[in-house]
Amino acid sequence: MAELLARALVRDVPDFPKPGILFKDITPILEDPEAFQQVVDLLSEDAIAKGAEVIVGIESRGFLFGTPMALQCKLPFAMTRKLGKLPFERITEEYALEYGTNTVEMHVDALKPGQKAYIVDDLLATGGTAGAACRLVERLGGEVVGFGCMIELTFLDGRAALPNLPITALMEF
Ligand code: AMP
Repeated sequence: MAELLARALVRDVPDFPKPGILFKDITPILEDPEAFQQVVDLLSEDAIAKGAEVIVGIESRGFLFGTPMALQCKLPFAMTRKLGKLPFERITEEYALEYGTNTVEMHVDALKPGQKAYIVDDLLATGGTAGAACRLVERLGGEVVGFGCMIELTFLDGRAALPNLPITALMEF
């Protein structure tokens, strides 16, 4: 396989957004059309191979990769958004963070019953966000066929938290 151009472009930012967190900044990838396109191509191929019928992007960096994927795959795009952002009737899922909780939502008509959904985010850490997105899709009657991300932080063991989810990560740290 060709070299993954995005890997060398991930920028480590220590102590952001709080002390002790090494933030993986993906903005340099967005500034490099060749690297960005390669990421979109690889995740799109995976979504198609898994039989996706809709791409579900997780706010907000999941939107950056999920929307070009949806256009490239000629599939609909559905949003998982943070609490209070969606205007129409919606369902809500809460998940645990290290301290406290977070909440994500989807519109009730974002998916059709039985639709095969491929969920996208920029990065898999503990798996809490991806797990909540899976629960939203399933509550709407969708079938999760895969989760795709650019980066997996393997030391946080998100895969163990999501044992039934086919996960594709383009790079591991
Ligand atoms: P988690 O729910 O723990 O898997 O966290 C995944 C979500 O948090 C993704 O939407 C990421 O964008 C974000 N995230 C978590 N840890 C990091 C990190 N070290 N660098 C950048 N983003 C992160």
